[in-house]
Amino acid sequence: MQLNHGITQHNSKRLRVVIAGGSMGGLCAGLALRGIGCDVEIFERASYNEANLTPSAVQSRGAGLVVQMEINRFLAEHGLTTAETLGVTSWKRQYIIGDGSIIWEESTPQLMTSWDMLYRQLRKVFPDQHYHQGSKVIGVEQSDDCVVVRFEDGRKEKCDLLIGADGIDSTIRQQLLPDAVPQYAGYVAWRGLIDESLLSSDVAKFLAEQFTLFHGPGMQALCYLVPGPNGELDEGKRRINWLWYFNVLDGDELKTVMTDSQGGVRKFFLPQGEVRESVIQQMRVAAKGYLPEIFQYLFEVTEKPFIQPIYDLSLPRMVFGRVCLIGDAAFVVRPHTAAGTFKAVTNAIELAQELQESSGDVVAALEKWEPIQLAMGNYLKLLGVNLGNRSGLGHYVLRDTLLH
Ligand SMILES: Cc1cc2nc3c(=O)[nH]c(=O)nc-3n(C[C@H](O)[C@H](O)[C@H](O)COP(=O)(O)OP(=O)(O)OC[C@H]3O[C@@H](n4cnc5c(N)ncnc54)[C@H](O)[C@@H]3O)c2cc1C
Repeated sequence: MQLNHGITQHNSKRLRVVIAGGSMGGLCAGLALRGIGCDVEIFERASYNEANLTPSAVQSRGAGLVVQMEINRFLAEHGLTTAETLGVTSWKRQYIIGDGSIIWEESTPQLMTSWDMLYRQLRKVFPDQHYHQGSKVIGVEQSDDCVVVRFEDGRKEKCDLLIGADGIDSTIRQQLLPDAVPQYAGYVAWRGLIDESLLSSDVAKFLAEQFTLFHGPGMQALCYLVPGPNGELDEGKRRINWLWYFNVLDGDELKTVMTDSQGGVRKFFLPQGEVRESVIQQMRVAAKGYLPEIFQYLFEVTEKPFIQPIYDLSLPRMVFGRVCLIGDAAFVVRPHTAAGTFKAVTNAIELAQELQESSGDVVAALEKWEPIQLAMGNYLKLLGVNLGNRSGLGHYVLRDTLLH
C-alpha cells in the first residue's frame, strides 16, 4: 500500500476515524488508515492488552489461525514479524481413519499461528494513547457530514467515519440492521489448546508439523501446532490446537451444551472453565465411541476444553452513510475456510485504499468499497457452507442424540 501523510477533507482537516472493536479487523483498519494519514481512535469493549491477554479473550477469537498470504504481507509492510517468526509451518495434511492409520497424505505447506500471537504483533505498532480499552460502544447517530458515537460510560465521540469492527455480536449492526441475525449452523466446535510438552513423545512425533484430520459421520476432528503462549516456536514449547466439530441440534440439545457452570446459557462462546463437567464427561464418552485414539487422547489431556458454536451471517449491505461494518460484524464465515481473519484484514486494507483514491471523500470511498467486499463475503460464506455440508456437518442428523 502507498503510504502518505495526512489525508484531508475539502476543509483541509485530517479525517477523524473511530473504530468500534480492537481485534483483528479493528487493529488492521486502524493501522491501514493511520498509514494513509487519518487520525484513528480504536475503542475496545474488553480490557486486555499485551501484558494480560486473558485465556477467554484469546480463545473467543479462534485460538489457532491459518495464516494467509495477505496477513503476512500486511505485517511485513508494518515492519512486523516475518513468516519465520510468526508461526509454525505445517508441511502436509494427513487424513486418518478410525483405527488411527493414515489413508491420505498431501503436501500442503501452511503457516499456523495463534490469535494471541497475531494480536500482540498488531498492538505493538498501534499507539497505546489511541487504543481505548474497556470502552463499549452503545449507539450511533449521523448527519450528512459527521457521525456521533455513544459509549456506555456516557462519553460521546464525533468523527468523519465510523468503522464497526465489533465482531459477531456487533452492537452497530444490531442498531443499523436489526433483522440481520447470525444463524446457528447446526454444529459446535469443541476446542482445546495443549502445551506440546504435555504430550507423550509418540503423539508429539505423529502430530509434529502436520495438519491431522479425521472425518466421521456428522463430525470432523483436526489439530495442528501453533506457537507457545508467548510466541515460542521451539520444539517442546509450542501448543497443539485441536477442534472437534460435532452436530448438536438447535433447541434443548444446544442449550444443554451451552449452559455454563453458573446456569447461564451462552450464545457465541463457552470459555475454558465454564463448560460443565457433566457435559465434558458425556463428550469424553462420545469421543471413545467416535474418534480415533489420538483425538480421544487430545480430549483426555485437555483439562479445560471450550466450545464455539458455528454460525453463518451475511448482510445485504455493509455501508450506511458514513458508517461501515467490517470483519465478523458483517460476514461470519465457517472456520473451514480458514479465512475469517483474512476477510477482516482485506476489508480494512481495501477501505484504506479507496479512501486514499477518493482523496478523503468518505461517502464516495465507501460506495466504491462496498460491492467488492460484499462479493467476497458472500463467496466465502457459500464456500464455508459447502465445506461444512461435504463433511456432513450441520443440519444432517447422522447420529442419535447424545446429550440429555
Ligand atoms: C472455531 C473457529 C476457528 C477459526 N479459525 C480461523 C482460522 O483458522 N483462520 C482465520 O482467519 N479465522 C478463523 N476463525 C475466525 C476468526 O476468529 C474471526 O473471523 C476473526 O477474529 C474476526 O475478527 P474481527 O476483528 O472482525 O472480530 P472479533 O475478533 O470478534 O473482534 C471483535 C472485537 O470487538 C469488540 N467489541 C464487541 N462489541 C463491542 C462494542 N459494543 N464496543 C466496543 N468493542 C466491542 C470485541 O471485544 C472484540 O475484541 C475461526 C473462528 C472459529 C469460530
